[in-house]
Amino acid sequence: MIKRTVVCILLGISPFLCGFWGFFAHQRINRLAVFILPPEMIGFYKTNINYITEAAVNPDRRRFSSPDEAPRHYIDIDHYGDSAINKMPRFWKDAAEKYSEDTLKAYGIVPWHINTMYYRLKDAFLIGDPESILRISAELGHYVADAHVPLHTTENYNGQLTGQEGIHAFWESRLPELFSDEYDFFVGKASHINNVQISAWEAVESAHEAVDSVLLLEKELSDHLSSSKYSFETKGRQTVKVYSQEYALAYHNILKGMVERQMRGSIKMIGDLWYTAWVDAGQPDLKKLIDYKPTEEELKRKREEVEAWKKEQIKSRSHETDF
Ligand SMILES: [Zn+2]
Repeated sequence: MIKRTVVCILLGISPFLCGFWGFFAHQRINRLAVFILPPEMIGFYKTNINYITEAAVNPDRRRFSSPDEAPRHYIDIDHYGDSAINKMPRFWKDAAEKYSEDTLKAYGIVPWHINTMYYRLKDAFLIGDPESILRISAELGHYVADAHVPLHTTENYNGQLTGQEGIHAFWESRLPELFSDEYDFFVGKASHINNVQISAWEAVESAHEAVDSVLLLEKELSDHLSSSKYSFETKGRQTVKVYSQEYALAYHNILKGMVERQMRGSIKMIGDLWYTAWVDAGQPDLKKLIDYKPTEEELKRKREEVEAWKKEQIKSRSHETDF
C-alpha cells in the first residue's frame, strides 16, 4: 500500500529502510536457508547462493512500481475485528467469498501469496526451468520472512496508532543489524510441509501473537529511557537520527530472543518450502540444471506438457481444489 511508503517519507526515512525486514535481514535469512537443504538440492542452490541472497529483496524493490506488489507483504489481520486471526478462512476462495477479493487485497494477502508462490515454485521444478526456480525461491523466501514479522500482521504496523512511529524499522532492521551476529541460526534440516496454506497461517498466527509484546514493551521502555532513546549516526555522507545503541540493547533484551526466534522460524520455513515444492514436483535432478540454459522454445514445450499433465490430474482427482 502506498500509505506505508508515504509514512516513511514523512518521517524522513528512506522507503527502503522502512516498512519491511531490512535488506540485511532478508538477505541473511535467504542465504542461511540454503544450508538446511538436503544433498540432492544444496549443490544447485549453493552454486546460485549469491543470486538467492541478492534477489531476496527484489519484491521490496518492486513495491513502488507495481500496484499489486505491496499487499503481498503483510496482512492487517486486526482490521477484521477481535480474534480475526482465528476466524479468518484459511483458503483464498473461502476468505474472498466472505470479504471480497478487493477487501482482502486492501488489507494484505501475505499468507495466501506464500501458498501461490509455493505452487509457482512447484511448477518451475516440474518444468525444469532453472531461472524460474531461483527467482521464485528467492521471492518466496522474502514473503515467508515478512510473514514472520509481528508488525506485518497489524494495522498499527509502524506504531502510528500508539505514538510509536518508527518502531517497524527499529524492530526489523536496526535490531537484526546490531545483534544478529550473535544469534544461533542452526535450525536443523529442511522437512516436508503437508499443508502449505495452513502452515503459512501458522507463521502469521505466531507473529501476530507477538504484536502486543512488540508494542507494549517498547512503550514501557520509552517511558523509562526516553532521555537516551535516540542518537545520531553517520551513514555515508548523511547523519541520521536512529534509536541509540543503548536503547536498542535494552529493547532487544526485554524482547527475550524474539527477533532471533522469528529469523530462525523464517529460515526453517523457507528451506522447508523449497524442499516441499521440490518433493511435490517428484524430486527432479537439480544437478542437471546447474549449467542448463534452456531455450525459450524448450521452456514453452515443457510448460505445455506440464499444463496438459495438470489438466489430466485435475480430471482424475476433481475433488482437489485448494488452490
Ligand atoms: Zn517485504
